[in-house]
Amino acid sequence: EWARVSNRLKSEIGETEFARWLAPLTPQHLEDGAVSMAVPTKFLKNWVASHYADRIQRLWSGENPDVARIEIVVARIEGSLSSDSALTVPLGHLDGPSHENGAPREGVRPIGETLANLPALEEEDGLIGLDPRFTFENFVVGKPNELAHAAARRVAESEHVPFNPLFLYGGVGLGKTHLMHAIAWSIRKRTPGRKVLYLSAEKFMYQFIRALRYKDTMSFKELFRSVDVLMIDDIQFICGKDSTQEEFFHTFNALVDQNRLIVISADKSPSDLEGMEERLRSRLGWGLVADIHPTTYELRLGILQAKADTLPLEIPPKVLEFLAHKISSNVRELEGALTRIVAHAELVGRPVTMESTQDVLRDLLRANDRRVTIDEIQKKVAEHFNMRVADMYSERRARAVARPRQVAMFLAKQLTQRSLPEIGRKFGGRDHTTVMHACKKVEELMATDQSFAEDVELLRRTLAG
Ligand code: ADP
Ligand code: MG
Repeated sequence: EWARVSNRLKSEIGETEFARWLAPLTPQHLEDGAVSMAVPTKFLKNWVASHYADRIQRLWSGENPDVARIEIVVARIEGSLSSDSALTVPLGHLDGPSHENGAPREGVRPIGETLANLPALEEEDGLIGLDPRFTFENFVVGKPNELAHAAARRVAESEHVPFNPLFLYGGVGLGKTHLMHAIAWSIRKRTPGRKVLYLSAEKFMYQFIRALRYKDTMSFKELFRSVDVLMIDDIQFICGKDSTQEEFFHTFNALVDQNRLIVISADKSPSDLEGMEERLRSRLGWGLVADIHPTTYELRLGILQAKADTLPLEIPPKVLEFLAHKISSNVRELEGALTRIVAHAELVGRPVTMESTQDVLRDLLRANDRRVTIDEIQKKVAEHFNMRVADMYSERRARAVARPRQVAMFLAKQLTQRSLPEIGRKFGGRDHTTVMHACKKVEELMATDQSFAEDVELLRRTLAG
């Protein structure tokens, strides 16, 4: 089973990411619906638990309905060493003369291969990673992204810093990274003398860990505090990573104090970033917070037309309209779809038609039809338990309504991309801790009550399609 699950994982997240994080996973046993998986270090344990456990569980339950949970445990595996300690070093010790987590010990591999192969960050790197296609010229503006776009232009084109930081947020594939690169390109072109550093929060964290490990925190600080513009993409990545957050907090303050521009992106608003320290959350919201909304049909069509114009072959307008209508998840998928039909047409040497489009995209179109919303979940669950949908939002606490409500919250967490606070809001403005509690409760019950577990599983399957 694990072989099948891991194959699907590989195809979902890609070989590289799989090799980096999930290759060391070793299944141990299945007990009471929980599969336990061993990893060699605590760091990997936390990592896998927070980033991949849900996905693994979903795939595994698909293979084997008996599997309701995944437990990640640390088990020493011959020849490796628990090397998560760098992450938990209190910052006060950073520059201390000798702490045991300093330089790598001989013959010992640090966390996977990742750290070992990580090169020191050069100032130039900040611009090397920029995608030449991600410019303002190539960005199509529509209602859902007009605020974010205007704010990005403003920081890129102002002589002074108009607001600090600029915080861009929105769902996957809606253009956050594109806008950030566009800002960097534009500043670079207008004022080549300014030092712009763009990197993902993930990279920031590795540079930081690396600095700790090689006792090189001075140059780390110097580098980050000497830039004119610092851009950190996907800041949600450092949620729950306390030392990295602390270091980022100091970097942030140092730069703001010197009136240097900071641009941040995330998948949620500052206040919704769970696992982010309060003081950092509040500071991230100090400047301008601009969200990118899910795309509308008009914007999707606009983006497709812009892309189609750059292609060497004709795409019938009907096909573009069809794609804009059918693929509503995000721009990345939309582009992927267009690329596929174009590649297909070129390969077989026939023009793009509606028929060929439907044929080539069959699986993609099905996946886009299958997304569930919280509203659907609430409706289905209410129906199943014979209660009023209104009680999904009501204050009533009677078991007969509270339990199904918890089930609906649990399924919302499992089947949608919504965050805990977002889910809470959909359930009559409940707090995210209530949602968290609901998820835990349902998991506990599923582990002990067979018929309850079957109920929930049945609902999950119906909803997931
Ligand atoms: P995010 O960082 O929000 O996940 P990206 O910036 O990586 O999303 O965007 C995903 C893809 O969609 C990129 O190829 C990007 O160029 C494209 N894209 C997103 N929004 C737009 C837009 N408004 N105009 C043109 N291309 C866009
Ligand atoms: Mg991005």
